[in-house]
Amino acid sequence: MVQFESEARDFLLKRRFRLRQQSGTAGVASVSHWFDTEAIPEPVGEEVRRELAEIDAALRRIEQGSVGTCLACGGPMGLQRMRAIPEARYCVGCSGQGLEGE
Ligand SMILES: [Zn+2]
Repeated sequence: MVQFESEARDFLLKRRFRLRQQSGTAGVASVSHWFDTEAIPEPVGEEVRRELAEIDAALRRIEQGSVGTCLACGGPMGLQRMRAIPEARYCVGCSGQGLEGE
């Protein structure tokens, strides 16, 4: 395994762990005392779920050995971009054209 692949994998696993912790326990005790009539569910849903899905997809791509390759142009993504955004699917040039949708 190339070094940046194992680095990216490590980073993703840690991030996934943190997100799961957040979505499981965050705010339950601190929020509920403001609303003692009814427990308000934490609004962690959409964004965290989306990021977890991104991370899972990135981990799958790492296992398949296709991480670090731009899905649009097939070119190399570059080590720096992989470190900054391990789940990125497009190189800087292609994501600059709005393919990433962010
Ligand atoms: Zn590209």
